Amino acid sequence: MAKIEMKTPLVEMDGDEMTKIIWKMIKDILIYPYVNLKTDYYDLGLEHRNETNDQVTIDSANATKKYGVAVKCATITPNAARMTEYNLKEMWKSPNGTIRAMLDGTVFRSPIIVNGITPFIPTWKKPITIARHAYGDVYKNSEMTVEAGSKAELCVTKPDGTEERKLIHNFDGDGIIQGIHNIDKSIGSFARSCFNYALDLKQDIWFATKDTISKTYDHRFKDIFNEIFENEYKEKFAQAGITYFYTLIDDAVARVIRSEGGYIWACKNYDGDVMSDMIATAFGSLAMMTSVLVSPDGIYEYEAAHGTVQRHYYKHLKGEKTSTNSVATIFAWSGALRKRGELDNIPELCSFADNLEKATITTIEDGIMTGDLALLSTLPNKQKVDTETFLVEVNKRLSALMGV
Ligand code: NAP
Ligand code: MG
Repeated sequence: MAKIEMKTPLVEMDGDEMTKIIWKMIKDILIYPYVNLKTDYYDLGLEHRNETNDQVTIDSANATKKYGVAVKCATITPNAARMTEYNLKEMWKSPNGTIRAMLDGTVFRSPIIVNGITPFIPTWKKPITIARHAYGDVYKNSEMTVEAGSKAELCVTKPDGTEERKLIHNFDGDGIIQGIHNIDKSIGSFARSCFNYALDLKQDIWFATKDTISKTYDHRFKDIFNEIFENEYKEKFAQAGITYFYTLIDDAVARVIRSEGGYIWACKNYDGDVMSDMIATAFGSLAMMTSVLVSPDGIYEYEAAHGTVQRHYYKHLKGEKTSTNSVATIFAWSGALRKRGELDNIPELCSFADNLEKATITTIEDGIMTGDLALLSTLPNKQKVDTETFLVEVNKRLSALMGV
């Protein structure tokens, strides 16, 4: 078989620890035999970020803006322990945070569903994708403790120097206050990313806030979503046969639990933080969650939702065999290659991506899986394999699907 040719390079962001090991294995075992892979490569491994004073992260985000599609390996976000371990010049920021800020994107997370791994919610038949707004609210707050006898007010100094004030509370006893904000432009970008992604997936989109209680703040989210939907997306949604549905957050939670799945659930920042872990756990495993960052102007960055699997990496360094789940990282590659195929009109690349996903799922449904899934699977014939054997087994099925 002639290898599939690519037109535009994929931006490749390499990473750290066990996921870096998996990254190379996926390319060697599952991609190079079939695709003449063209990438613009950036090493986001912590050592190289440190050498370049994190310039490499910025360069990789700029390359993503230029080419439109990236695939990213999990990376270490440094903390005090990593400062010593890697002898860092600085506690570099999270690469994901830097990239997200530069692309102004929204993160969409979806579970990969396989037979034998049963969701904790028996009615869920299809994936539920969480879209989390990644700017502001409680994540950019100012907060204080307040002494008894104090008066707390919101005060805004306007461009002309005049002030507008609103009482928060007259404190009889000691207490606490918090100021949060958001920006119309960021909410608008979030709305557009969600509506575009719903059109991409041809799935309904739900959005929920607490606008009955927060009549200005949360209501602004509701109004911006509604205005953008009415003006820019209503007809496209009708053509695609999908709907936009707004409700209150508590009603949304109740409906999600009763639903069959198969839609995108757009969440404000805090709701998305909490609900994405609930959805991931209820579907089975963090190692089976894909994640894609979508910018409002249609730039895509694909990754796995889990981290660098540090504990497995230390075992690997000691020469022990690991059984690390590579599924979400495989799906990051298939997602990125499929998107590249769509944008460059290379149907063979899209069907390769489909086959890669099919082969991966079939392997697990045939009972061959890594340890994390073997613990959850209800299949009678399940067999736990090591990291590399799993990929070799996927390739057996992939080569059959590719007819080689
Ligand atoms: P983690 O890498 O997601 O792993 C936490 C635990 O979950 C693992 O120890 C393992 O459990 C299980 N697990 C996660 N992914 C797995 C997989 N693919 N296969 C099998 N088991 C898996 O989170 P962490 O240990 O908290 O973080 C490690 C590093 O990753 C940190 O430096 C953090 O900054 C970074 N991180 C990066 C990203 C990103 O780049 N997107 C996201 C999160 C964290 P057992 O050990 O019980 O087997
Ligand atoms: Mg969280």
